[in-house]
Amino acid sequence: MKVIIIGAGAAGVAAASRLFQSGVTDFKILEAENRIGGRIHTMKFGNAMIDLGAQWCHGHNIVYDLVGKENLEEAIMDFRKMTYSNGSKELIDFRVCSFLFQLLFKIEENIKSKNGNESVENYFTRIYYEELQKLDYKNKALAKEILDNFLKRESCYCASNNMNEISIDNFNKYKDCDGPTWLSYKGVGLKRILDLLTRYEFSLDNKVLFNKRVINIDYSNDGKITVKCADGSEFLCDHVICTVSLGVLKLNHLKLFTPQLPANKVKALNALKFGAIGKVFIEFERQFWSDDWLGLTLLWNEGNIKKIKGKYDWLDAIYCIYNFKYYPNILIAFMGGNKVEIVEKLSTEKIKEGIEFVMKNFLPDEIKSTQIVNVKQTTWKTNENFLGTYSYHAIENVCMKSLQEPLFDKQKKIKVAFAGEAFHEDYFSTVHGAVETGYRAADEIAKQICKSKL
Ligand SMILES: Cc1cc2nc3c(=O)[nH]c(=O)nc-3n(C[C@H](O)[C@H](O)[C@H](O)COP(=O)(O)OP(=O)(O)OC[C@H]3O[C@@H](n4cnc5c(N)ncnc54)[C@H](O)[C@@H]3O)c2cc1C
Repeated sequence: MKVIIIGAGAAGVAAASRLFQSGVTDFKILEAENRIGGRIHTMKFGNAMIDLGAQWCHGHNIVYDLVGKENLEEAIMDFRKMTYSNGSKELIDFRVCSFLFQLLFKIEENIKSKNGNESVENYFTRIYYEELQKLDYKNKALAKEILDNFLKRESCYCASNNMNEISIDNFNKYKDCDGPTWLSYKGVGLKRILDLLTRYEFSLDNKVLFNKRVINIDYSNDGKITVKCADGSEFLCDHVICTVSLGVLKLNHLKLFTPQLPANKVKALNALKFGAIGKVFIEFERQFWSDDWLGLTLLWNEGNIKKIKGKYDWLDAIYCIYNFKYYPNILIAFMGGNKVEIVEKLSTEKIKEGIEFVMKNFLPDEIKSTQIVNVKQTTWKTNENFLGTYSYHAIENVCMKSLQEPLFDKQKKIKVAFAGEAFHEDYFSTVHGAVETGYRAADEIAKQICKSKL
């Protein structure tokens, strides 16, 4: 076989489609799970097609072009449509919250022109309180609750444990694409991208082998590469495109590669971080909210954290419970930080109890929830084929060149190329980043195969 692609996520499927377009058809994809998509996982839950993994298209990028603007819809952030609560009797006035959040968004806009090693958390805290002091802002308790919520939200966007882990320089490594940041797929789910990537004449059905967890890639001699799977099967090929997550690479690279990866690549692998966020989908007996309600922002403080201590210690990882207009009767709780793994291991009953606690304590009586029918939490961190959700650049500098560089043979021919979100220098942590790296790896290999035919 000419090429083996390891992993059928966005990068692997993109690489396959590009190989095919370049006339390289002698390839297979080995996938450890029993489905394609990887961190794109659209499934039926209640009456909706929910996305356990990626959910949004972030701006005008390769995915946007693929999907087409008519199939995407901008999510509008309107502070008036959000409920803010810290669990006290009265809801907090959206105007006060909006004022404080706007201030933080302005600081976020400005951070893009800054540089340095100061942590993002430090920077936000410092500038925010300086600004509030200038304005002689009095409600210190609320100001802190909003700052904490904002920082939790940011660590969820980055998948970091907290924003102290990320320096300003590394925060700015991620590049926004032009256009709206939050574009939804109108309830169809991200599976649409996979269908579009494979819309050419070839079908993935006879290209992907499922339940094939690769345990070793032996590229030690200048001939064929041997790829071994956990079920004992072996494959020979000329080139490998490895798209497993950074989490899988970090944990397994010593056993996965023969010979071992060069020291500079391992150093880069270690410097780049791989974190986890979590979602809990909550299905209610009936929709107790209006269609245009955005959701509930949870403001945690010493008082309400005391109330969950010992019983629902994980609950304060949730910073917001969103209404997504295409999910009837379903709300989604979002969480980040180091409690995500704890939530992944909880039983459905325990999660239900915790969410009920939030509904009872954070919402006023007149909009109390109806019965919760079902809950479903994501399990990206504890799944051995992912070990987290996406990568982030923390404080340490990552040498991207060492990370991205393929493994060559003595004739400088590519033996193993790497692709996947973590390998993108600007768009790491996204689907569009993963797709671009898949195309890139396939192009390099196709070029080499075509050259050797001449
Ligand atoms: C909860 C969550 C929310 C997200 N939200 C967004 C969003 O809104 N917008 C956005 O753009 N991005 C989002 N992302 C990120 C996005 O999903 C990823 O960046 C992208 O899908 C990664 O694709 P990939 O091909 O690099 O990796 P993966 O999708 O992880 O593909 C790698 C594949 O390799 C397989 N594999 C692993 N180990 C082995 C092995 N040993 N042998 C064989 N196969 C193996 C895996 O099963 C997997 O299918 C989100 C991710 C998560 C988890």
